[in-house]
Amino acid sequence: MSKTRRCPYCQRSFLPSVYRPQQEVCGQPECQRRRRADYHRKKLVSDPVYHQVVLESQKKWRDAHCEYQKQRRRANPQLVENNRQHQRQRDQKRRLGRLVKNNLVLDLKHSASEVWLVGSKVHDLDKNNLASAQVLILPSFGSLPTEPQPS
Ligand SMILES: [Zn+2]
Repeated sequence: MSKTRRCPYCQRSFLPSVYRPQQEVCGQPECQRRRRADYHRKKLVSDPVYHQVVLESQKKWRDAHCEYQKQRRRANPQLVENNRQHQRQRDQKRRLGRLVKNNLVLDLKHSASEVWLVGSKVHDLDKNNLASAQVLILPSFGSLPTEPQPS
């Protein structure tokens, strides 16, 4: 005769399965998911062999996934072009980010078309000295002009 238990996740009472008298977590999918995740976490810390197996299976998954990605790219050249453009955008953002840190660029208006103020005298903006600054309206992607030389 089994007694009811309280599930540590949902706090509801449940009857352990006759097949698993040691059951400590109720049968709801969400609680079982949390139980497996907790088990996995604890096991990763306590069992180096398990940890190693997990790392290897993750690597295998990545390798397999990588092959899948390659095939996908081969099958769909447009995808590659889109990715390239996104990468270009990211590179551009990074470069602009660096310039911003160096006080060479101000992001005037962050919107669909980005407006950047570029120029070595940009820090004079507080004096409303716009003459030496250059306004660039960049398309959403594309190449950047060369970085301004400090005068
Ligand atoms: Zn539960």
